[in-house]
Amino acid sequence: MKIKNTPPALPLWHSPSLWSEANNTIAELIDKNLENLNQAIMAAHEIEKNLNSIFPVVNRLCMPTCPMCPDPCCLNAKIWFDFKDLLFLHLQRLVIAPSQPIGKMSETCRYIGHHGCTLDRIARPWMCTWYLCPSQTGRLRKDCPSEYDNIQRVFNDIKSERGKMEDGFITAIMPHFSFL
Ligand code: SF4
Ligand code: SF4
Repeated sequence: MKIKNTPPALPLWHSPSLWSEANNTIAELIDKNLENLNQAIMAAHEIEKNLNSIFPVVNRLCMPTCPMCPDPCCLNAKIWFDFKDLLFLHLQRLVIAPSQPIGKMSETCRYIGHHGCTLDRIARPWMCTWYLCPSQTGRLRKDCPSEYDNIQRVFNDIKSERGKMEDGFITAIMPHFSFL
């Protein structure tokens, strides 16, 4: 029996119009429901605090590894902003990238520059922060196991807060979707 390969899906909100519609809708829902968004806003604050706490370690890991890397991960990354990424950026009033990193699965991330990613760390898709490549993981575990444990703990906290943020948002906007 011949097994048919399923073609990879397109990235979420891959076109300029879908990207703009997604962002406008999230922004509008936040504005309309601001008074009910405490849980989501608190979770988004925690995420930003946690992200900022690990960026110095991530920067320190990148400095000796990324500029010399023979196979930079960003060149092959099939990455895009998901709903929680956009919700976080909107709730924290952070800069939103002008489009998804890729519009098709065959493309290379449009935010790669000559000296690495051109987006601020805080404004990148979560997957870009969460991914520690084998070389960096090995280095951190060997040189500083306590920092490795700490970064794993912070990653888990961020994942949990992302869930709380999304739940809080959905609960807050429910009255606008009373047919559900
Ligand atoms: S994170 Fe790892 S794989 Fe990616 S560019 Fe840096 S050293 Fe290379
Ligand atoms: S958004 Fe930045 S970190 Fe993420 S894949 Fe693109 S260049 Fe790399």
